Amino acid sequence: MNHDHSHALFTRAQSLLPGGVNSPVRAFKSVGGEPFFVERADGPYLFDVDGNRYIDYVGSWGPMVVGHNHPQVREAVRLAIDNGLSFGTPTPAEVTMAETITRLVPSCEMVRMVNSGTEATLSAIRLARGATGRNRIVKFEGCYHGHGDSFLVKAGSGMLTLGVPTSPGVPAGLSELTLTLSYNDFDAASRLFEEAGDDIAALIIEPVVGNANCLPPREGYLQHLRQLCTQYGALLIFDEVMTGFRVALGGAQARYGVTPDLTTFGKIIGGGMPVGAYGGRRDLMQQIAPAGPIYQAGTLSGNPVAMAAGLAMLELVQAPGFHDRLEAASNTLCDGLQAAAAEAGVALTTTRVGGMFGLFFTDQQVDTYAQAVACDTAAFNRFFHAMLERGVYLAPSAFEAGFMSSAHDAAVIEQTIAIAREAFAVVAKG
Ligand code: PMP
Repeated sequence: MNHDHSHALFTRAQSLLPGGVNSPVRAFKSVGGEPFFVERADGPYLFDVDGNRYIDYVGSWGPMVVGHNHPQVREAVRLAIDNGLSFGTPTPAEVTMAETITRLVPSCEMVRMVNSGTEATLSAIRLARGATGRNRIVKFEGCYHGHGDSFLVKAGSGMLTLGVPTSPGVPAGLSELTLTLSYNDFDAASRLFEEAGDDIAALIIEPVVGNANCLPPREGYLQHLRQLCTQYGALLIFDEVMTGFRVALGGAQARYGVTPDLTTFGKIIGGGMPVGAYGGRRDLMQQIAPAGPIYQAGTLSGNPVAMAAGLAMLELVQAPGFHDRLEAASNTLCDGLQAAAAEAGVALTTTRVGGMFGLFFTDQQVDTYAQAVACDTAAFNRFFHAMLERGVYLAPSAFEAGFMSSAHDAAVIEQTIAIAREAFAVVAKG
């Protein structure tokens, strides 16, 4: 594969953009090498500036659940653009969007549109703090909720030791209010709430973790967290930025039958445009300005073009059987990859939840962050590059979920598995 044009662009970009990119993971730091620059995308494919084609399992990090450049989404955007790009006033589409989200995700009795997942999560914890009058929040090791100050925090050594900032620029006084738990550890959550439950405003979780590879919840785990939050008067926030409308039409909360107090969304509800939202119980959402005193605002929030794209996308995912087909595609891919790895003598474990999947280079079952971190990342990095050279793009990090789309048909998946056979042979050679 030739990458001359990408290389030239990356060289220019590095003197102009920090690390040559506008979001860190794009820089290929954890897998090594240089990113490719994309010119266009269609269905399951990305096309780079050197004319190379890739089968894409990143899908713009989640939103492209119906494939790239879907004609219905494109047409909706085109029609919206004809009317102008932004008005800074209420528009009809945002009401339809709110009706759609509240219908598909009943725990959201009201919603507020924002412009990214980061805005959604930081607004949700402000609401939780304002509504409960408490300051502490609980998050999970390996979960990512955007780059808000309160989320860039790692646990101190003991469970109740103060959170330590993981980025310069985050004041210690703020990160100390973030407590961190191990995902899927029932007892740790119980102990934390016993010790500090009365001070906790909210517990925020990716109900299926998509930012530490892909970790599904253990049976009853989300119910356990729900029970603890209810008992101690803390709010349960599901960050469904990845899982929303992807692991089931009603998101992870529908799939696992657990009702959070607040939910954050992004990705799919923008259809590829920069959009997020948060929603939840009416009595909580009524406390947001201007209905209530907790302030949150946005000049471009509810943007008519973004709403049009998101509404078109949400219509497509409501097709009967959509999520069953998506899950079947994830299963076919993961079963095929496991068989191909076994043939090559490479240890591989996979997880799949609807349109999300995880590839772990280990022979162990994986459902905790510690297990995910213990996998063979060097093997993943070799696999990543062997796949990329052969025209398959996986997320450029061993700690990101894979994303399936309805445009990945049987032939595309079969081709992916055939390419993976060669890539696993490369990994096996070491
Ligand atoms: N929450 C989760 C679960 C995410 O995966 C992400 C981003 N991948 C975010 C929040 C932040 O979203 P954004 O990048 O749109 O700010």
